[in-house]
Amino acid sequence: MNTESIATLAAQWKSVCQSFSTTDLNDTFQFIQAHSQTLVYEFYKNIMQEKEASYFLSDDMVQNRLKTTLNQWLIDCFNVPLQQNFIEIVEKQLMVGKVHARIGIPSWLIMRGIGEIEKKVFLLQAEQVQENSLLIAAYIVQILGFASEIMCRSYEVNLEKNNDIKHTYRLFSAMQDVASQKDKQRSSLLDWENDLMFKVFSNEPKFTHPLLSKSEFGLWFIHKAAYAFTGSEQVSVIIDRIHQSDLLSQQVLNAAAREQAIQLIQHIRENNREIQHLVDQLFQVADYIDSGSDSLTQLLNRRYLHTIVSREINFSRKNNTPLSLLAIDADYFKRINDKFGHAAGDSALKFIGEVLLDSIKGSDYAFRVGGEEFLLLLVDSDLVRAQEIAEKVRSRIQETTIRTSMGISFNFTVSIGCALYDGHPDYQRFLDAADAALYAAKNNGRNCIQVTKQAAKA
Ligand code: GH3
Ligand code: MG
Ligand code: MG
Repeated sequence: MNTESIATLAAQWKSVCQSFSTTDLNDTFQFIQAHSQTLVYEFYKNIMQEKEASYFLSDDMVQNRLKTTLNQWLIDCFNVPLQQNFIEIVEKQLMVGKVHARIGIPSWLIMRGIGEIEKKVFLLQAEQVQENSLLIAAYIVQILGFASEIMCRSYEVNLEKNNDIKHTYRLFSAMQDVASQKDKQRSSLLDWENDLMFKVFSNEPKFTHPLLSKSEFGLWFIHKAAYAFTGSEQVSVIIDRIHQSDLLSQQVLNAAAREQAIQLIQHIRENNREIQHLVDQLFQVADYIDSGSDSLTQLLNRRYLHTIVSREINFSRKNNTPLSLLAIDADYFKRINDKFGHAAGDSALKFIGEVLLDSIKGSDYAFRVGGEEFLLLLVDSDLVRAQEIAEKVRSRIQETTIRTSMGISFNFTVSIGCALYDGHPDYQRFLDAADAALYAAKNNGRNCIQVTKQAAKA
């Protein structure tokens, strides 16, 4: 929103205030200060009964953080005529709307809460003996309505922007995977069933086998392909078949007789051929859509970072699976450019890209988010796996000498920050946690890995 519209909204806010006397404004502020806790209580008591709310808000989060935030918001809104900070209060509402869009909290939920606050205001005013009670209630209702209107304006703009990016990402990701993943995933599906068959035929008395949904193929399909092809009828059928193979493979593990196991395997093979056939159908799509990837390293660039992280956060919350993030930054990179030239620096960055792709599965995501800054988003990964990958990346880079076509050779290192997703619906906090860990790794002497404090406790 531009400065001009912010100024207009601020002027409108001011004119609402000007239609009341100074006594009314001051009495209202005192009333809000005295009752803000009660009003906050009404807001959350009612919205937490909605099913949708439980998806975005936990009781813990409401008790420990959000109650204080809402309390402050109420006080700020009615302190405005005393402070005369109309521009600032408008900007604050725009920011709140933006955060709600980022998290995906529906605006009707907020409106419901505001409605409950208004109801309580009238009930409380009815008990008062002040003669301006009605004016106070009228002023409060106007301000709450106007503040929520500003929030909704910014909410809608931001939601639309996010949806556009999501849509292009879907296309982009679909096309990118056609080239890079399809064959690899075909063989990984085959590997999964061949491994199972091998275990049955080798007559081991008790053996284990991963679920197909947790295998390389399953994770890749559920996290990437399913999203890229949202809306295609094959997607739900494939996911259904994957779960069917999971069930059958569990029965194989429990089968009393070998013949029974072999029969079940035959079932699984038929099921998997159907999966393969459906996947082939999905991938018969046309042109390659670019501009989401970085030309030097072929990793994803910043464009889809927020879409992907927020999508994976939602998946993790819904399915209760762990999610980790590594923030990687080359150490003293400026010196490499200064000493060996920009082209040598570029070779090193390319090498980082190769090491990152080499260290992750097809279901994970690798980004180049800045000049010499990278991110790995590791799906279905706890801190143990995240730290293993971080160490693999760190040590491989430290041990490899970069040799350029110009005959220059040098070594360099990277620092890595590691964060485990903590369940908060705002993805920005997750990104910040990994960044903070990276900052700690830099301060700890570089060429090392640091885990976020918050994650270390988990
Ligand atoms: P630190 O260990 O604190 O990260 O030190 P640093 O020198 O790596 O950090 P700084 O942020 O000061 O410098 C980053 C350097 O990365 C600056 C720039 O010359 C280099 N750089 C950024 N993008 C590219 C690129 O695309 N190619 C090359 N060759 N160098 C790049
Ligand atoms: Mg650096
Ligand atoms: Mg840097």
